[in-house]
Amino acid sequence: MSTRRKLPPGRIIAATHNPGKVKELGALLGDIGFVPVSAGEIGLPEPDETADTFQGNAELKALAAALASGEPALADDSGLACDGLSGAPGIYSARWAGPAKDFRAAMQKIEDALKAETSEDGEVDKRASFICVLSLAWPDGHVQSFEGVVRGQLVFPPRGDRGFGYDPIFVPEGETETFGEMDPDRKHAMSHRAIAFDKLKAFLSA
Ligand code: IMP
Repeated sequence: MSTRRKLPPGRIIAATHNPGKVKELGALLGDIGFVPVSAGEIGLPEPDETADTFQGNAELKALAAALASGEPALADDSGLACDGLSGAPGIYSARWAGPAKDFRAAMQKIEDALKAETSEDGEVDKRASFICVLSLAWPDGHVQSFEGVVRGQLVFPPRGDRGFGYDPIFVPEGETETFGEMDPDRKHAMSHRAIAFDKLKAFLSA
């Protein structure tokens, strides 16, 4: 376990080339004085996600940006892990949708893979987790990570056209609607990303 450190408010490199993620970070961290600057904007390359865990990938992205820029950097990695598929698609969640980002096909692939795993008595394990890891890296190589997990059940066929990615097949524990049907504010209050951000904000504000 690494030593806990403070990070004073100010500029922070958002280790992503996705403008949507940078905007989201600005909205989430602006009120405590952090101003995200996109890694793309300052010409940093995007490292390959070569680790085999969410935390490993979030840390390598944050570290690459912090070391290259000489400034603190924040990265995330997230996805859907299905119990009945030994955690797949997991870190490959985006990649299962292919270059066309076809999540209808990716959700069908999950349904088909679960059917193939169905036991002789017809039992299908539909438990799943959405996971998000946020990693904060300093230019001297120190890194601190924050994880958010939401447990739930998969449903087929997909339901709802709100949200994105795998939202239409995931019903969080204690709920009846999928993330794809739910009011977005409600999803954002309970999501894996919200949990990870709450932990990060508590750390930054301490
Ligand atoms: P990342 O941007 O590399 O972290 O990829 C995350 C992938 O996981 C996305 O492309 C989605 O497929 C999936 N994912 C992560 N969070 C969510 C969510 O809240 N809803 C639906 N899909 C998600």
